[in-house]
Amino acid sequence: MTATNHSITAANLALVTKSWWILPIALLSHFVLDALPHFGNTKGKDIDKKFITMYTIDFILLCSLWLTVLLVTGHFRYLVIAAMTLATIPDVVWIYRLFLKLKKKAVPKKNILTRFHTAIQWGERTWGWTIELGWLSIMGVIFISLVRKIG
Ligand SMILES: [Zn+2]
Repeated sequence: MTATNHSITAANLALVTKSWWILPIALLSHFVLDALPHFGNTKGKDIDKKFITMYTIDFILLCSLWLTVLLVTGHFRYLVIAAMTLATIPDVVWIYRLFLKLKKKAVPKKNILTRFHTAIQWGERTWGWTIELGWLSIMGVIFISLVRKIG
């Protein structure tokens, strides 16, 4: 899933529980969401127009979410940011591998975790952005209702 969807889901987990024990669950939520059908390139190309559009929008939304969290989550902001970071960080491996590939450097063989991370993303489809948008809408409504309860 997109970084925004991983982050907003973790933000909601943190705001529901308001407790630090949610952090490992926030990390695990990454893999649960990746196992759902979502946006991805199925034609074997690393980067195409759809990929650039999708991840540009994702980056803008992610920055907006971070700013919103900093402004509206009060004394829960550090918990929410920690949860969002943990829920997003597993995808850093893909950015690193893509960077190596684009630089035409040797891409390391996938380890057991990377192979698992690939295998669970069986449902990557170019039309998966519709699912991403639906998920974001639901999580956005929940986020707003949770933020309203902070006081
Ligand atoms: Zn992932």
